[in-house]
Amino acid sequence: MEKRKFAELGLSADVLRAVDKMGFEEASPIQTAVIPLLLAGKDVVGQSATGSGKTAAFGVPAVEKVDPKKKVVQVLILCPTRELAVQVAEEIAKLAFFKTGVREVPIFGGQSYERQFRALDAGAQIVIGTPGRVMDHMERGTLRLDSLKMVILDECDRMLDMGFRDDIEKILSQAPATRQSLFFSATMPPAIQAMINRFLPNPEWVKIAAQAQNAPKVDQVYIEVDRRFKIDVLTRLIDLHDFRYGIIFCSTKIMVDELDEHLHARGYATDRLHGDITQAQRTRVMDKFKRRGFEFLVATDVAARGLDVDDLEVVFNFDLPNDAEDYTHRVGRTGRAGREGKAFTFVSGREIYGLQNMIRYAKLKIRRENVPSLDQVEEARENVFFDKVRGVLDAGTYVKQDRFIDRLIEQGYASTDIVSALLHMMNGSGDKPETKPSSAGTPAVQAKATPRPAAHTPAPAYVPEPAQPVPVAFAKVANKPAPAAREQAAFENEASPAQPRPSKQKFQRPARTGREPGMTTLFFNVGRKQLITPADIVGKVAGVTRLPANVVGAMDIHQRHTLVDVASEHAPLIVEKLKGIRVKNIALEPALATDADRAAE
Ligand code: ADP
Ligand code: MG
Repeated sequence: MEKRKFAELGLSADVLRAVDKMGFEEASPIQTAVIPLLLAGKDVVGQSATGSGKTAAFGVPAVEKVDPKKKVVQVLILCPTRELAVQVAEEIAKLAFFKTGVREVPIFGGQSYERQFRALDAGAQIVIGTPGRVMDHMERGTLRLDSLKMVILDECDRMLDMGFRDDIEKILSQAPATRQSLFFSATMPPAIQAMINRFLPNPEWVKIAAQAQNAPKVDQVYIEVDRRFKIDVLTRLIDLHDFRYGIIFCSTKIMVDELDEHLHARGYATDRLHGDITQAQRTRVMDKFKRRGFEFLVATDVAARGLDVDDLEVVFNFDLPNDAEDYTHRVGRTGRAGREGKAFTFVSGREIYGLQNMIRYAKLKIRRENVPSLDQVEEARENVFFDKVRGVLDAGTYVKQDRFIDRLIEQGYASTDIVSALLHMMNGSGDKPETKPSSAGTPAVQAKATPRPAAHTPAPAYVPEPAQPVPVAFAKVANKPAPAAREQAAFENEASPAQPRPSKQKFQRPARTGREPGMTTLFFNVGRKQLITPADIVGKVAGVTRLPANVVGAMDIHQRHTLVDVASEHAPLIVEKLKGIRVKNIALEPALATDADRAAE
């Protein structure tokens, strides 16, 4: 199906910049087809599957058409639900980011009229609303349509199913005859056909059919997972299956960068490819990947297109592909040369409908699996480690440490205890998960905090360093639940992905208040060891959150962590925004500090 670069679609510099900032590398088929038609002033009826990018298909022309100097409603977008209205408004806001003077407002039932009225009164040009509430505002005289240039009906069939037909017809008949219209609908029942006949005299029809594909011989699995936990699920799957060679597909450049950094920080050997990477660098990365110089390539579709590797163990669709064609391209990179390949596709929330469409139209064979449990991962890791130790013992490829061991035995320690202690110490830097202690939550900590050795490096021969204490970081980690542990319940309970995070945190990690009123102490996992200075922290907080530097107060820099007082009202935002940000090559994992953090050196 045809796709083009956004730059070829006749967009303004402002919108092109916005699309680039959103990380979109090229327009999806529906966007390629619809955007030029709308820019040319045509009426359009569009049909394409969920997840195919319809929002930007109408959002881009909507933003382009708005005259920012006129503070009147120029575009009206009707959506079936408040959630959709909010989502669409968010995407419009991103698309309009660089076009100054454009304002959008979602209006829906359940929110106060007063607030919506204020936004309308302030001159919002793009209104995104549910038909009922839009009608209400029209009747109250708080929403006028006489300057409307464009009406967009998103998910038209669903709106009719929900009984909005009368409202929609009233709204359409009050909009000026000169306006442009766009109807998006997955299906075309007679009621919609009738509406089209009545309101769109001569529309262009755009239908993006999902094409049937030859399914590759790959074991294909999809997993429903909340967006926030995708990375954790990804690493679990990699660990569980002990994958060593694969591609992880993301839909945006931003996500590629982010995921590459996260995986890197967790000890996986990764590199990335996307459209913003220079050709020379791309060639280097591809060559290295072909030589198996690293384990996982994180890439967008576009960037991976020129890559001729086909002996991958696994393909991950970290983000759902746009259509079945992309899906098949991605997945077809594994399972060749007579080997069994695996493909995992993550779906979050409503993406499940997009996947179901693909499965139906392209006759894909993808079965559902649950998120692997921590126990499964533990067991798999333990088996891998067990085999490694046995391999070393059988091969005799280790240096004997009799004198060291004898010294301990002489002091009355049992050999089994000595080995257990060494394994425990290895947890700080090795790859054996600690045997599960009885306290709940700790296994997740281990699974997460234990860095994985680089690909294919043999386990280092053990060199005794009796003077070295158990690494502080490890000792800390053992009694400080990592985010994975904290969120584990929500993680495994897909039915309630929207669980509010702060209250969960509070429940498991009683937060300390700051040393001054109005301040909250945060824990940062960097310290003197990384040569952290207060300026590093203040700089990151201010730079990433764009809050003024004075939201940061007193700071205690310890060997491996730093306690930072911040204005309480901004604490959640700071934790959220700085998560994963790199300082001195360490990915930050900020959290509310506990008493234990305070006591630790
Ligand atoms: P639809 O309305 O057709 O169901 P959406 O507009 O909600 O689909 O888009 C689905 C997802 O794809 C969103 O996360 C969106 O940000 C993303 N997306 C849309 N267009 C592109 C693109 N050209 N490149 C990458 N991602 C895109
Ligand atoms: Mg949509």
